[in-house]
Amino acid sequence: MEFSSKLLQNAVNEVALLPGIGKRTALRLVLHLLKQPKEQTAILSEALTKMRNDIVYCQKCYNISDVAVCDICANPNRDTQLICVVEDVRDVLAIENTGIFKGIYHVLGGKISPIEGIGPGQLNITPLVNKVKNNEVTELIFALSSTMEGDTTNFYIYKQIKDCDIKVSTIARGISVGDELEYADEVTLGRSLMQRIPFENALKSM
Ligand SMILES: [Zn+2]
Repeated sequence: MEFSSKLLQNAVNEVALLPGIGKRTALRLVLHLLKQPKEQTAILSEALTKMRNDIVYCQKCYNISDVAVCDICANPNRDTQLICVVEDVRDVLAIENTGIFKGIYHVLGGKISPIEGIGPGQLNITPLVNKVKNNEVTELIFALSSTMEGDTTNFYIYKQIKDCDIKVSTIARGISVGDELEYADEVTLGRSLMQRIPFENALKSM
């Protein structure tokens, strides 16, 4: 794509770096901004810059937050001994939308994936294992997607805590193999949580 303006070209190139956005869509978005008042672009830039600079990760669950301890962890009505292990903030949102989970989360920040070069050391696994070993947990619920990476991650964590005296369960697979949690509808996801099964049973069927 040849542009009549280097400035336009730069902006399109940057927007096109975002996932799922090709050059054509990037051009459409940039031209849209060009038609809007200048303040609109300033507001957008500022929102993105502020988000990038000021966001922190909850020091308890590693969820994205604006404060040191997120609203979920700070809520006295949540059962802090019941921990749902998820990949990222999208899963927290999906499970929160079901309205049935009263525990807290532990956000791993990804899944073990040798292909993508993601090892356990890059994920928030050690703090989770420490929570279990410090007797801060009565039940862990694995709620990672049912992919090879999800299963590998579950098993890696399970191996380190299997001798601890806690319940370890995994969400029931109303969610089919390979589905990402965020795409599951709320009713299915809610049911999967309620009907969770002991992790050992899930291991046998793997
Ligand atoms: Zn938190």
